[in-house]
Amino acid sequence: MRVFDTHAHYDSGAFNADRMEVLASMPEQDVALILNPGCELESSRTAVALSEQFPFVYAAVGVHPSDCGDWEDSWLEELRALAAHEKVKAIGEIGLDYYWKENPPREFQQQVFRKQMELARELDLPVIIHDREAHQDCLSIVREYPDVRGVYHCYSGSLEDAKVLVKLGWMLSFTGVVTYKNARKSLEVIEWLPMDRIMIETDSPYLTPEPFRGKRNDSGKVHLVAEKIAQVKGMDAEEVARITLENGKRFFNI
Ligand SMILES: [Zn+2]
Repeated sequence: MRVFDTHAHYDSGAFNADRMEVLASMPEQDVALILNPGCELESSRTAVALSEQFPFVYAAVGVHPSDCGDWEDSWLEELRALAAHEKVKAIGEIGLDYYWKENPPREFQQQVFRKQMELARELDLPVIIHDREAHQDCLSIVREYPDVRGVYHCYSGSLEDAKVLVKLGWMLSFTGVVTYKNARKSLEVIEWLPMDRIMIETDSPYLTPEPFRGKRNDSGKVHLVAEKIAQVKGMDAEEVARITLENGKRFFNI
């Protein structure tokens, strides 16, 4: 079954030893497409460079809330220039992260988030949202931009918020976390979520699905996410793979 890993970080140092070999092996592992988001300027540039080297890799450019401490408004110019590349399909990953105490102050994260939402609106690109322990503030900023479409990556919010997001026309995407023992809340969301709003991802090199948890993740393991969703939905994994691949292509305009 051919799959679309809609969120993987091959710019990560975890792939320094074998990045090219791992990516080159993806077609034979039935990974049809990969989207590599950036977390700051350097990783955004690397994401674009990787998309030039592999026809099945696409990129997003953006500054992650945990990496926004040194933000200057001149970064917007750089992001705008990178986003002009034909293989850049979104602004991301952007959002709010209140989990790590050492992260930039909340107010500052919110300012940087808003600036990148404005950039997405200007460029008519979708956004990839990172929301960790910031559900309320994140949703209220999303609502300030009714003409921006997006996906919540590694969705960890409530069923109630999922219903609001679906109404707003947004997508939710799920990682290997759905295979973990404590995934009950995500599974409840998946059970309810209409199939045309689901995307799957690995968040490689992180969040490796069971039974490989603890090892480095790669896009070849996104099949396990499709299988878990299929189990929850009472569907064939093949069908989940096919629909999420189509959803990803439609969402990212590929
Ligand atoms: Zn990520």
